[in-house]
Amino acid sequence: MSDRLDIDSPQIPLFQVIPRSEHTISRRLISPRALKVLYRLHESGFRACLVGGGVRDLLLGLEPKDFDVATDARPEEVRRLFRNCRLIGRRFRLAHIHFGSEIIEVATFRAQQDPDDAEVSVELDDYGRILSDNIFGSIEDDALRRDFTINALYYDIADFSVWDYASGMADLQAGVLRLIGDPEQRYREDPVRMLRAVRFMAKLGFRLAPETEAPLHQLGHLLLQAPPARLFDELLKLFMGGQAVQCFELLRLFGLFRYLFPATDRCLRNEYYSAPRHLLIHAFANTDQRIAEGRPITPAFLYATLLWGPLQSLLQQSAFQAMPRGEALQKACDELIRHQNRHTALPRRYALPMREIWALQNRFERRSGKRALAFMQHPRFRAAYDFLLLRAAAGEPVAELAEWWTMVQQLDDSARRQALSINTDQPRQAKVAANR
Ligand code: ATP
Ligand code: MG
Repeated sequence: MSDRLDIDSPQIPLFQVIPRSEHTISRRLISPRALKVLYRLHESGFRACLVGGGVRDLLLGLEPKDFDVATDARPEEVRRLFRNCRLIGRRFRLAHIHFGSEIIEVATFRAQQDPDDAEVSVELDDYGRILSDNIFGSIEDDALRRDFTINALYYDIADFSVWDYASGMADLQAGVLRLIGDPEQRYREDPVRMLRAVRFMAKLGFRLAPETEAPLHQLGHLLLQAPPARLFDELLKLFMGGQAVQCFELLRLFGLFRYLFPATDRCLRNEYYSAPRHLLIHAFANTDQRIAEGRPITPAFLYATLLWGPLQSLLQQSAFQAMPRGEALQKACDELIRHQNRHTALPRRYALPMREIWALQNRFERRSGKRALAFMQHPRFRAAYDFLLLRAAAGEPVAELAEWWTMVQQLDDSARRQALSINTDQPRQAKVAANR
């Protein structure tokens, strides 16, 4: 037992079953829908366990985001048990049981295909990444194919015990994130695990086991082979999970950020110009605060801040300088988005509002007349204004402009009209950088 708590020793999977009397998971804290699914599977003669983040978070006294169920029932068998069940997934069939807006995901135990085993045909890409992954297995197989030991704990509805195949409980108690198996191989199979490591460090306040951390510094380039759409999803989890500042710092520390936002990273490396870094830190701190207060945030705004530095650099180039302002902005946006989409895809529904937030920055310069008044009714005015505030906070020379627009919004209708019509000759000292 004692060497299991020594976090510096490589992980030796030790199996243990922790009875109900020796752990803190209470059924009162589990979603009634998840319990219903677990009981029905169990009563039908199947093994039924809660697994993954749900078990981990309950043991840590946190509120789980979702409850995932693992079972030895095949997807078709699960479907026969639940009317409200849909089978999804191409790569691996999963059952989704729908209860209004709550979905309980039920996965059949599956095995990690051993990439070194020539007997089983495993589809790997040139970098060792697993492309297909659909062999059913035992609960132990299922545990060992999971990413971190603390994510491989099973809460068994049969007797409310916790099954631990990978010393996850010891790591949970020690605050350690440890990949199951050979860390380098596990990162190569699925580079997104590097981002998950960062996310769980920030979310749980855990540290990485030394052997889990070591390869991380060398393998960031593998992210270049990960599907950009999947990276986008993972980025949202990193930056919209309430710990964006810390995730950003960790991504930079492990040398991962440059493979996600190469152009932004180049701006950050420019030691003479610290505005992009200030802008990002302010934006992430704002995001974290808004999440803590339950206020909404949008990926469009996050991307607008992440790519603002590269946009300014592009606009400095002579080709863009030679174009009229509006055209330069459009062309630079096109180029930037095309480039970024090769790394982390930005869906159009976010790309469009992001461009609008940028394009509207120019309109703050006009502080008089009906157009200025109409601008305040623009559906994206609030986001554009928040972005202006952020730029001011990051040290761009727009502080006076931001103050003025803050003041105007606080006026009543007639005072506002007065302010807008008498301000025709404001000095244009705060030239908006989006144009040049
Ligand atoms: P949270 O839902 O709080 O973000 P989670 O651990 O539940 O954390 P999910 O993405 O919901 O994360 O995944 C559920 C479980 O599936 C994980 O706990 C882990 O056991 C397994 N898993 C998820 N992604 C991977 C992966 N890339 N490689 C191996 N196992 C994974
Ligand atoms: Mg989860």
